Amino acid sequence: MSKIDVYDVVIVGAGICGLITAYKLAHYKLNILVIDMNIEPGWGVSKGHAAIVHVIQLPFKSLKSKLAREGNRELLKICEYLKVRYRKTSTLLLAMNLLHLLALPLIYLYLKLNLKGEFKSRIIGRRTLRRIEPNVSDKVLAAIEVDGYAVIDSFDLIYGLYEFLKINSVHFVFGEKVVRIDFQEDFLKIYTDGGREFLSRYLVNAGGLYADEVARLLGDYVEFELGKGVMIVFEKQVSDRLLSPLTLRPDPKTKGGAVMFTWDGKGLWGPNLRIVRDKNDLSIEESDVNTIISRFSKLVKADPGIPIKAYSGIRPIPPINDFIITYSKKSRRIVNILGTESPALTSSPAIARVVLEKLKEAGLELIPREDIVERIVFHRFRDKPECGKSRLICICNRVTEEEVREAVRRGSKTLQGVMFRTGVCMGVCQGSRCLSEVIEVISDELRVKPSNITLRGGGSWIVKTS
Ligand SMILES: Cc1cc2nc3c(=O)[nH]c(=O)nc-3n(C[C@H](O)[C@H](O)[C@H](O)COP(=O)(O)OP(=O)(O)OC[C@H]3O[C@@H](n4cnc5c(N)ncnc54)[C@H](O)[C@@H]3O)c2cc1C
Repeated sequence: MSKIDVYDVVIVGAGICGLITAYKLAHYKLNILVIDMNIEPGWGVSKGHAAIVHVIQLPFKSLKSKLAREGNRELLKICEYLKVRYRKTSTLLLAMNLLHLLALPLIYLYLKLNLKGEFKSRIIGRRTLRRIEPNVSDKVLAAIEVDGYAVIDSFDLIYGLYEFLKINSVHFVFGEKVVRIDFQEDFLKIYTDGGREFLSRYLVNAGGLYADEVARLLGDYVEFELGKGVMIVFEKQVSDRLLSPLTLRPDPKTKGGAVMFTWDGKGLWGPNLRIVRDKNDLSIEESDVNTIISRFSKLVKADPGIPIKAYSGIRPIPPINDFIITYSKKSRRIVNILGTESPALTSSPAIARVVLEKLKEAGLELIPREDIVERIVFHRFRDKPECGKSRLICICNRVTEEEVREAVRRGSKTLQGVMFRTGVCMGVCQGSRCLSEVIEVISDELRVKPSNITLRGGGSWIVKTS
C-alpha cells in the first residue's frame, strides 16, 4: 500500500484568502498543504480584481466592512515585508448635483462617526478640488476625501506569498481539484481528481467562487449569486486619487466602482455589476464597456488615452451579502470561508485572523516558529534600472529578458504565469511587439519547443505547428 502524506492543515484554494491564511499558519510549527485546481496560485477571482486596498464598505456593521478596516493596514504591512509594490492614495466621493451638495455634511459626519478616527476624512470645496485634482470634471461641486486607500501590485503579492510559503516549507499541489473529503476518526481524508489522497487534522475551505462546491463535499450548503464585474484598463491615469461618484442609495452588492489606477500608472475604470448564471462566463459585452465609460467619463475632463484591455471577474455573493466564516456543520476541524466578494482582498489578513482563531478554538496547537526565512526579492529593471542585467524585451512595461527567465526559474511554465510575474506583454501593445520573443525565451529557459508553451495550461496553445 502506498504511503499517504499527513498534514496538520490542508487549505483548499491558493487565492488571496488561502495564501494569506497559509502565510499566517506558516509562522507556527505546522505541516501545511495548499491544493489548487489551477496550475499556478491566484488564478481564480484573485487575478481579476481592481487591486484596491479599501476603507469604506457599507453597511459599516457588516463583517466585510469590519474586516476590511482591520485588514487594510495589515495587508500593506505584509506588502512591505514581502517587498511588494504599492502606492498609498485616498478616495474622493464626488458631489455631482445640488442634492449631493446638501447631503455632503451629513455624509461626512456619518463617515467620521463610523471610521472613528482610524481613517481621516474631510470635505473639499470646489476650488481646492480643482487645485489638487485638475482633471476632475467642472460639473463636480465638492467632495469628501477619505484617506487610507492604496493600490497594490496584486500579482506580486500573490507570487510573493507563494514564494515565502515555499521557502518556509509549506507544500503545494497545483492542477488538481479536490473532489471528495471523507471524515475519519482523527483525520479528514482528501481526494483529488489527480488520484492523490491526503490526510489532514484540519481543513480550510478557501475555494472562492467554488467554495460552495467544496462546502457541499463536506455536507454544508450555501448558494452564491454570481456578480460579474468588468474593468477597463486605459493607457493613462487621470488623477492621483480614486474618484467615485457620491451615491445616496448604496447598493449592498457593489460599491459602485470608480475611476482608479494601477500601481504602475495606468487608468483603471470600473467595475460594473451584472448577475450571471455560469461561473466560467467571463465574457465582456459591449454594454458592459458602454455602462462603465458613460458612468465614469462624467467624473473627469481629461482623456485617459487608449483603452488597452478589458477584463472581468465574478464575485461569489451569498444571500446575506456578507462574508461567512464558519465551522462546517459536520466538524469543527473544518473552517469554511464563504462569500469572498469585494473587498476580500483588503480583508484577507483579517479573514485569516478569524480562521486561525477558529482553528485554535477547535484544538489546533499554534507554537510559534523561530526559523522564518524571508522571500528573495525579485528585482525589476522598472523599479531599479541598476538591477537590469540584460536587454529590454517588453518596451511598454520595461521588462528585461532576465526577468522573463527569472519568472520561469521561480516556477512559471506558461505565458500567463510569466506575464503576471513580470508584467511582460501587459503594456499598451499587449504583446504585439514582444510576444514571439517572450515565447522563445520561455521555451529556451524550459528547454522545450516554443510550440509546447501554452497561455495557461491545458489546450491553450499559442504556436501552431505545421
Ligand atoms: C471585478 C472585481 C473587482 C474587485 N476588486 C477588489 C478590490 O479592488 N479590492 C478588494 O479588496 N477586493 C476586490 N475584489 C474582490 C476580490 O477579488 C476577491 O474577494 C478575492 O480575490 C477572493 O479571493 P479568494 O481567495 O476567496 O478566491 P479565489 O481567488 O477565487 O481563490 C480560490 C481558489 O480556490 C481554488 N479552488 C476552488 N475549488 C477548488 C477545488 N475543489 N479544488 C482545488 N482548488 C479549488 C480555485 O482554483 C482558486 O484559485 C474584486 C472582485 C471582482 C470580481
